[in-house]
Amino acid sequence: MSEHKPETRLIEAGRRREWTHLENGGGIVNPPVWRASTILFDSVADMQAAEPPRMGTLQYGRSGTPTSWALREALTELEPGAAATHLYPSGSGAVAAALLAVLEAGDELLMVDSTYGPTRALCNTLLKRFGVTTRYYDPLIGADIASLIGDKTKAIFLESPGSLTFEVQDVPAICAVAKERGLATLIDNTWATPLFFPAIPAGVDLSILACTKYIGGHADLMLGSVTCTEPFAQRLQQASKVLGQTASPDDAWLALRGLRTLDVRLRRHEENGLKVARWLKDQPQVAQVLHPALPDCPGHEHWTRDFKGATGLFAFVLDGGDDAAAARLIDSLELFGIGYSWGGFESLVCPAAPTRTASTRDWAGPIVRLHIGLEHPDDLIVDLAAGLARYD
Ligand SMILES: *Cc1c(COP(=O)(O)O)cnc(C)c1O
Repeated sequence: MSEHKPETRLIEAGRRREWTHLENGGGIVNPPVWRASTILFDSVADMQAAEPPRMGTLQYGRSGTPTSWALREALTELEPGAAATHLYPSGSGAVAAALLAVLEAGDELLMVDSTYGPTRALCNTLLKRFGVTTRYYDPLIGADIASLIGDKTKAIFLESPGSLTFEVQDVPAICAVAKERGLATLIDNTWATPLFFPAIPAGVDLSILACTKYIGGHADLMLGSVTCTEPFAQRLQQASKVLGQTASPDDAWLALRGLRTLDVRLRRHEENGLKVARWLKDQPQVAQVLHPALPDCPGHEHWTRDFKGATGLFAFVLDGGDDAAAARLIDSLELFGIGYSWGGFESLVCPAAPTRTASTRDWAGPIVRLHIGLEHPDDLIVDLAAGLARYD
């Protein structure tokens, strides 16, 4: 682990000389795209020496090439105290592999109620079929999570802030309880990335990213990662291998390219997002702005204490009206694309319909989620003002 500051590690990490330089001299800055299925060996002995698969030794395409190793090493470097990172063809694939690495039949999983929809679906279908029960908990439960832990509880899954509703969790308090009771902790850290919230130093065992979002940063790749501590490295490696998980070298290369500018992009997303969020807060049609860096957001005090920044994704609650009126508002915006996903350079908007179990809250009106991109925020505000002026 480099002693350098995170901004410097972003630039240095994964650029090993042997992945960028020719043996007889000369090199390039970025590891190139190594596409491979078959790896050729000089002898049976060399073939046998490549077992078991490990970073830095070519074995078979599925075990990676310098392109994916560089990204894995870089993501590990961003989480002080982490031992390893594995890649997956999507963020959802990463969530599934991490949970399958930790759980077994008969276990109970404590899952945050504000989790990403497909993660909830995984728990309620496949994990259930394989004998894992899921109990949903209030994102703001904090250390009281202790009261939900039973004989069968094996792991706690966090996502902070929560998908669609942005509750910021007390991650250190929950992880402290988990450590005391011998439970594994997993976090979906896609919103903050390790740059704004290093999850492993906060006590998390497995930190999951949809690299599709801010790591890629240009809305043109699908990729996921899990970074874990030493005690979980073996299980994660084994689960990833037997599940046949691997990532395309082209997507790994694009993600590595995106990673180098993550710091400057996130800081501009933060600045633009806050400007739009603060403006929205003062509009009569808006009941509440759910932005972790603003006091109206549930768990805001945890954001202030634990995070190094805010990114460009947040939501606002309309004051009255219905889904059809919210859809008209969304349709009328010119600078905001209508679409799933987020984390690219461009602004996006979508209706947010939280599906909850335990901690359902009543909202004043429909919720709209915004991803604020790198456009000038004043242009975005003009666009939103025109849409809100027509809101009825
Ligand atoms: C998008 C997203 C995922 C899933 O990532 P994909 O690459 O789209 O599968 C997981 N968690 C969160 C919070 C996300 O926003």
